[in-house]
Amino acid sequence: MGSGRPLVSYVLPVFREEENIDLLHERLSAALETVDVDTELIFVNDGSTDDSLARLIALSERDERVVVVDLARNVGHQLAVTAGLDKADGDAVVIMDADLQDPPEVSVDLIREWQNGWDVVYAQRRTRQDGLFKRATAALFYRLLGTVSEIEIPRDTGDFRLIDRAVVEQLRQYGERSRFLRGMISDVGFRQKAVRFDRDARHAGETG
Ligand code: UDP
Ligand code: MG
Repeated sequence: MGSGRPLVSYVLPVFREEENIDLLHERLSAALETVDVDTELIFVNDGSTDDSLARLIALSERDERVVVVDLARNVGHQLAVTAGLDKADGDAVVIMDADLQDPPEVSVDLIREWQNGWDVVYAQRRTRQDGLFKRATAALFYRLLGTVSEIEIPRDTGDFRLIDRAVVEQLRQYGERSRFLRGMISDVGFRQKAVRFDRDARHAGETG
């Protein structure tokens, strides 16, 4: 900090990702060398029962950008991300999974679009590496969502996205404990832009 460069916070929820943390950090660090911003990497340990917390602490000892938030118990992905958002100081925040399904290289493309003036830059899947079951349940999910909700949520998007500080502030106005971040972010408006990407398979471990 103090360099005059914008600060981008990453919020990375972690539930049993011991085999993914170091590779994620390595790929993200390499990708970030191609963009002119400072970063803080907020890893939210969501009650992992494996070695994730120890790996994160070790990482924070050798990289001052790394911040570890250790939740007292498993609260689930959406609330883990919310805890990270509360901690984030950045001019923009990138929300990204820690299992390498969201390619770190794409997160830098999101930052570039933010530098072009967009407030919300969401990553939209071109393809799906998931199995048939996940694809079918996801398709059903989007259909049901379309019928019960008045909020337009872009298809084939997850929570992988960048939001400007102004959007983070808006989200803080929502007091809900039960949260659906994608819907809330779509709902707040602002200038929104899609970046298409190919979602990878989880690097290691199991879906939580
Ligand atoms: N995650 C979390 N808490 C949970 C479950 C998952 O913080 O209770 C994290 C997980 O470590 C990953 C992200 O949320 O970084 C997405 O989880 P997962 O890969 O299990 O979901 P999927 O990609 O299968 O939808
Ligand atoms: Mg995953």
